[in-house]
Parts: sequence; structure tokens; C-alpha cells
Amino acid sequence: MGTDCLFCRIVAGEIPANIVRETATTLAFRDINPKAPTHVLVIPKEHYADVATLAQGDPGLAAEVLATAATVAEDEGLLADGFRLMFNTGAYAGQEVFHVHAHLFGGAPLGPMLC
Ligand code: AMP
Repeated sequence: MGTDCLFCRIVAGEIPANIVRETATTLAFRDINPKAPTHVLVIPKEHYADVATLAQGDPGLAAEVLATAATVAEDEGLLADGFRLMFNTGAYAGQEVFHVHAHLFGGAPLGPMLC
């Protein structure tokens, strides 16, 4: 995708991010405006607009995003109490950055919904 995608620019190292985990195909970094004590975004390095496009286009890569999220949850000490993974998909659902990202929330009771 390149220069007009914010998260592609983070992958390229053009915009700084607080990276907590990187694999060959995925990146996890702290949300710049955290909504929970732990709020990490997990993305594939390759550009897909949203989770539906990713899951249909490359289900193996979608699974790698989930695996990275689970490892970050473990590293952040969230496995015992639990955590939330959320993909906003489409503007109607509140998606603002159109490079697929899982929101990983944890570190406090989250209640039934975060929106
Ligand atoms: P969404 O509404 O699902 O598209 O979420 C986009 C998220 O990206 C929001 O939670 C923002 O706070 C977050 N965000 C935007 N810019 C950055 C950035 N430069 N580094 C980290 N997180 C960001």
C-alpha cells in the first residue's frame, strides 16, 4: 500500500511506534491513545484493509495475527484474567485506519462492551 497508509509506514519504520513484538509477518505495538491499561494493536505487515479481506485473502496470515496477539497477551500477563480482541471492520463499525488491526485490550475488568 505504502505512503498513504499509516500502519504501512509504521511497518516501514517511517513513523515511530512502541513495538512490543515483531515476527516475520506481523507487528504488535501500543495504541497511541490507549483505552485500557493494556491496549496493543496487532497487524500483518502486508497491507489488507480489514479483517474480512485478510481472512478471505490469506487465512494463514490471519491465523498468524491471532497467534501474535495470543503471545502478546501472555507476555503482558493477561492470560489468567482474560483479555479482549476486537477488529473494527468498516467505517460503519468505527474503523479509522484501513490497515487491518486487532485491538488487544486487558489489564482491567472490561465490562460487556468497550464502545
Ligand atoms: P480503529 O478505529 O479500529 O481503526 O483504530 C485505530 C487505532 O489506531 C486507534 O485506537 C488509534 O488510537 C490508533 N492509532 C492511530 N495512530 C496511531 C499511531 N501512530 N500509533 C499507534 N496507534 C495509533
